[in-house]
Amino acid sequence: MAVEVSDVVDERAAAGSRLLLGAGPSPIPRRVMEALAEPTLGHLDPDFVAVMEEVANRLRWLFGTPNKATLALAATGSGGMEAVAANFVEPGDRLVCAVSGHFGDRLADALGRVGGDVIRVEADWGRAVAPERLIDALADGADAIACVHGETSTGVCQPLDGLADACREHDALLIVDCVTSLGGHPLSIDDAGVDVAYSATQKCIGAPPGLSPFTVSDRARARLARRRRPVASWYFDLAMLLDYWIDGSSGRLYHHTAPSNLFFALREALVLMAEERLARRWERHRRAHEALREALRALGLERLAADGEEVVSLLALPLDDRVDATAVQTALLRDAGIEISGGLGPFAGRMWRIGVMGDGARPEPQRLLVQALAREIRQDPCEALAALERRWSADD
Ligand SMILES: *Cc1c(COP(=O)(O)O)cnc(C)c1O
Repeated sequence: MAVEVSDVVDERAAAGSRLLLGAGPSPIPRRVMEALAEPTLGHLDPDFVAVMEEVANRLRWLFGTPNKATLALAATGSGGMEAVAANFVEPGDRLVCAVSGHFGDRLADALGRVGGDVIRVEADWGRAVAPERLIDALADGADAIACVHGETSTGVCQPLDGLADACREHDALLIVDCVTSLGGHPLSIDDAGVDVAYSATQKCIGAPPGLSPFTVSDRARARLARRRRPVASWYFDLAMLLDYWIDGSSGRLYHHTAPSNLFFALREALVLMAEERLARRWERHRRAHEALREALRALGLERLAADGEEVVSLLALPLDDRVDATAVQTALLRDAGIEISGGLGPFAGRMWRIGVMGDGARPEPQRLLVQALAREIRQDPCEALAALERRWSADD
C-alpha cells in the first residue's frame, strides 16, 4: 500500500491547529470542512430535504441495513443513547446491559433513569462480556439486551455472537452503541441482527461532532407502536422525528430546526467513505491499528485489550507509575499540537487512549505522534518509526 500523506497534516501546519488523535473528535478532511461552510438552508427547503434523503440513504449503506427508520439526530452520541432510552424503555421494563467500561456504565445509567429495571452483566474493564452471560440473563425474562460495541474507555470490542437469535427467541430487542466502531471497525447491523443502533459523527466517520446516526428495525418500530405510555422526551420522540424525516400523507412536519451545515458536512464525509469503499476503509483502520500498536510497543507501551478482543478504532495503553500520564498528554498538546486522551474510571491518570479513527488512521499523523511522544518520554523513536514504515508498506 502506498504511503499517503493526508491533507490533515498540511492543514495542521497552519498556526495553532491540532492533530486530533484522542478518542474523538478525529481529524476532519478538508472537503468535509468546506462542505460545512456551504450556505445554511431552512429545514423544510426542498434542497435541504434532498440532502436529508441522501444522508439517510448513505447511512443505510454505512450501517448495512435497508431500515426505513434511519436518520441522524441533531445530537451527539450521548443524545443517541438518550433517544434509545426514551423510546425503547418503559418503566419496569427489564433490560440486560453489558458493562465493562465507562460507556457501558453510562448506557446502563441512561436506561435506568427512564425507569428501566437494568440487569447489569459486568466484566472487568479491559475484557468483553461473554455473550453467553448476556443470553443467560435474557433467559430469565427481559425486553432487550443493550451493549456497547466499541468500549472507548478500554479499547475492547464486545462480541455480538448469538445475541440476535437469543433476542428473537425471547421477543427482546438488541440495542447496540456503535459510536466508536461505525466506519472503522467491521460491523453490519443487519448481519449482526441489531434492532436499534446509534453512532456519532466525530469518531470513525470523520465529520464534526453534533449528529448521531440512528437506525431502527421494523421489529423495534412495532415495539414502539405497542408502548403503553407516550415517550417522555419531546425532542427524542422517534415517531415525531419520523414524521419529519419520512414524507407522509401530510408531507413532512416541522419538528426542530435541523443544523443544515452539519448535514452538509456529514454528507461529504459519507461521500468520501463511499469513494474509499467500506471494506477498504475497514482494512486501512486495521492496518493503522497494527502499525501503531507495533510502534508503541517499541516504545514499551502495551495495549490493554487481549488479542482478538480489540476494537480497531482505539488503542488503550495502561501505564505504570513511572510515567506521569497527564503531564505527557498536556505536553503533547502544548508542544506538538497533538491531542490524545487520558484514562477514565479506574484508569484515570494511568492510561493513554489513542484514536485510530478516520483520517487519523493514516501513516503521516501516526509518524508525527510517534515522534512527538518519543520526545516527551525521552526515548529514541527510530525503532518505533521503522515499525510503522514496515507495517504501512507491507502488502498483506
Ligand atoms: C464518544 C462515545 C459516546 C458519547 O458520544 P458524545 O458524542 O461524546 O456524546 C457514547 N458511546 C461511546 C462508545 C463513545 O465512544
